[in-house]
Amino acid sequence: MTLHKKITSAPKADLHVHLEGTIEAAMMFDLAARNGVTLPWASVAELHAAFGFRNLPQFLEIFYAGLQVLRTERDFFDVTYAFLKRSAADNVVYTEIHFSPQGHLERGVTWTEMMDGILGAATKAERELGIRARPILGLQRHRSEEDALKVIDAALPWKQDIVALGMGGAELGNPPSRFVNAYARARELGWKCTCHAGEEGPHGYVTEALDLLKVDRIDHGIRSIDNPALVARLARERMPLTVCPYSNVRLQAVPALASVPLIELLDAGCLATVNTDDPSYFEAYLNENFLGTARALNLTEVQTRTLIENGFKGAFLDEGQCTAYLDRLDAHWT
Ligand SMILES: [Zn+2]
Repeated sequence: MTLHKKITSAPKADLHVHLEGTIEAAMMFDLAARNGVTLPWASVAELHAAFGFRNLPQFLEIFYAGLQVLRTERDFFDVTYAFLKRSAADNVVYTEIHFSPQGHLERGVTWTEMMDGILGAATKAERELGIRARPILGLQRHRSEEDALKVIDAALPWKQDIVALGMGGAELGNPPSRFVNAYARARELGWKCTCHAGEEGPHGYVTEALDLLKVDRIDHGIRSIDNPALVARLARERMPLTVCPYSNVRLQAVPALASVPLIELLDAGCLATVNTDDPSYFEAYLNENFLGTARALNLTEVQTRTLIENGFKGAFLDEGQCTAYLDRLDAHWT
């Protein structure tokens, strides 16, 4: 079997993806029509033309405009199910999906509509497509910590359904240190914790997320490469890093896929993984993230398999569940 075929057909995990970043352009226009929402673009072609963002803030402007189409339980169901169906076609068997309640509640969407839609689609997809999905409550870091604490408390009826607290959005100027109490609250609730750090922001944000937020995982983390002592620490602590190669390129955090520091991280012993982030906007689902990276970095079969394995090892799964997925991967690979 060629490496290409091994990658595409292997069971895989996607640990870093935003529900609102999976809305395909055609579906966005369908939902806009269904809900009477006026988008800032006149057509799918015009939206695609707007994909020439040069940095995270420019991307976020489009991302926040696009998510306005999500209004009802049915919308959340349809978008979640469409993403899971597309991921299952890439042989993704497990995913942890960030969703941004703060971006929806302010438009009058209720927690029940969001959660019933997302969880309903997850249940159907697990039954019909064999892919398991669990939601991560994704805070928006440009808002206040007071608002973060409020949204965490409002999520309590779904405490068991939500697997972790995460935080995304504009990194620069919004360091992890602003959210110490919110993360302490999440840990009290028994949630795992993850935080975007070190894609747009500096490696110091990764250190803050580790020391102050006491996270179990770092989303992105590629700027860690600028601090050898930090890389050594991440390796020693086996801290998962959810690297998103096409995101790094499209947001110009790196000049090209060949500059994504996956090999350096693996060589240092870090638990680096490959993920999608916002696949409809970055126009790459999980297979393409693996294939593009394997081509650009000339990954060996061993390196590729390690990255796929790390996707399960870095997941918020108990040991038995993780081993079951690794056994599946092993049976496939050999
Ligand atoms: Zn992200």
